Amino acid sequence: MTIIQPRHLLDGSHRRMFIGGAWVEAASGETFETRNPATGTVIATVPRAGKKDIERAVAAARNAFDGPWSRFKPHERQKLLLKVADLFERHWEEICVSDTTDMGLPIARARGNANRVLGMLRYYAGMATALHGQTIDNSLSGDIISYTRKEPIGVVGAIIPWNAPTAASVWKIGPALATGCTVVLKPSEEAPLTPLLIAELMAEAGVPDGVVNVVTGTGAEAGAPLAEHMGVDKIVFTGSTATGQSIVRASAGNLKRVSLELGGKSPVIVCADADLERAVPVAAMSVFANSGQICIAGSRLFVARSIHDEFVARLAAYAAGLRIGDGIDPETEIGPLISPRQLQRVEGYLRAGSEEGARLVAGGTRLSRGALAAGNFVAPTVFSGVTDTMRIAREEIFGPVISALPFDTLDEVVRRANDTPYGLAAGVFTRDLTTAHQLSRRLQAGSVWVNTYHAIDPAVPFGGYKMSGYGREGGAEHLDEYLNTKGVFIRID
Ligand code: NAD
Repeated sequence: MTIIQPRHLLDGSHRRMFIGGAWVEAASGETFETRNPATGTVIATVPRAGKKDIERAVAAARNAFDGPWSRFKPHERQKLLLKVADLFERHWEEICVSDTTDMGLPIARARGNANRVLGMLRYYAGMATALHGQTIDNSLSGDIISYTRKEPIGVVGAIIPWNAPTAASVWKIGPALATGCTVVLKPSEEAPLTPLLIAELMAEAGVPDGVVNVVTGTGAEAGAPLAEHMGVDKIVFTGSTATGQSIVRASAGNLKRVSLELGGKSPVIVCADADLERAVPVAAMSVFANSGQICIAGSRLFVARSIHDEFVARLAAYAAGLRIGDGIDPETEIGPLISPRQLQRVEGYLRAGSEEGARLVAGGTRLSRGALAAGNFVAPTVFSGVTDTMRIAREEIFGPVISALPFDTLDEVVRRANDTPYGLAAGVFTRDLTTAHQLSRRLQAGSVWVNTYHAIDPAVPFGGYKMSGYGREGGAEHLDEYLNTKGVFIRID
């Protein structure tokens, strides 16, 4: 029987994890704490899952896949996903408060994500009844009718980071439900609470036991056993490039399919003819949103030399005017970093920038006055005088730090923008249509935004080039990642 936990225990209470339709403890009985990064207070304890718990969750997902879930027809899965979306809509505020409290996302921003997340669920609902194979009339086969079938791949292990728990969960669970797969989701140990709430809402909507399981634990103790589990047919992972590489190695045992959404060091190019009124806030928030903890952060800002100094001055003024604080305040624009560890990492980059000779024009320090002292706050930071070889221009910081670099010609900026192991996203600001099209073609990135940034649409594939990963989320090809294609030949003579 499914036990619905009281919602919203963000007061230090204990939460259990969700396996096979039941709220359970870790086999070891161990737990860990999750804290509000704005205040440092413990908001809940959760089970610290290990290999045995992963075994149990994969078995539950397999039973559901082979059993009741396999009898759900596409239109029934569609109806269920629509019901889930409606329930999410009714509980949207609760979801937002959970994300804000567990990982610091400003509530105004969380609320603003409603369309995107609900839109994803409804898009996948639509896709559930749009899956189909092809009939292939190939004379080489003689008197044979051939056709393809699209079949769910099976049990999907989903491993997600802490920076967008709601969207990341939905981008994994939505296509699984649309295609008829089952899921074992391992949220980040830094932000496990919203995925547990999501499991609860899914159960309430009528998702059968075992179809969606959420197992809380660390990467080494719960993530790694999931990635190497022989009973898992696919791993869908979002996180750092280093962890993505270890997941690929772990997947070798049963050659499970893997798709990876990894890190980035995305370029934003501001041409001399850009509309600066528009470009300044968008370029700033391409990094500062979520305190820079966004995979697509446009952290290398290439500005045409003729407007460079004016642009940087405007950017610095914009950064200095942002409202920083606990994300639960609707006025807050910039929240905390996720953890003291992340704070230390970012402070290390702030030091490296200055030591390597970059010029600090905004921010550059931890904020620790008054109420901010208890949280992990860093001032939105802009460095100018950055060169391509500095660490702040090469490494993913995952903090609110922009490196401004001047450029002279388009050929030059394309070469420099592409000179990175990553290829997740890129931004372009120009009023010239030819420049917009030329740069969109030549930039090596999975998403290119022109005169905007951050636009995501469930119908448009999102993913990386190069070491930003492979596979796509969104669009029809996303569903293919959860499907096997079978060729069937029927002799008719
Ligand atoms: P991370 O790689 O440290 O952790 C991500 C997840 O992997 C967590 O759940 C963690 O517990 C788990 N994990 C860690 N080690 C593991 C292992 N050996 N085996 C299996 N699982 C393991 O990443 P993070 O610090 O949580 O998130 C930040 C990173 O995620 C950044 O690099 C960012 O760019 C990336 N990211 C990418 C996208 C995208 O769509 N491309 C989106 C968000 C975040």
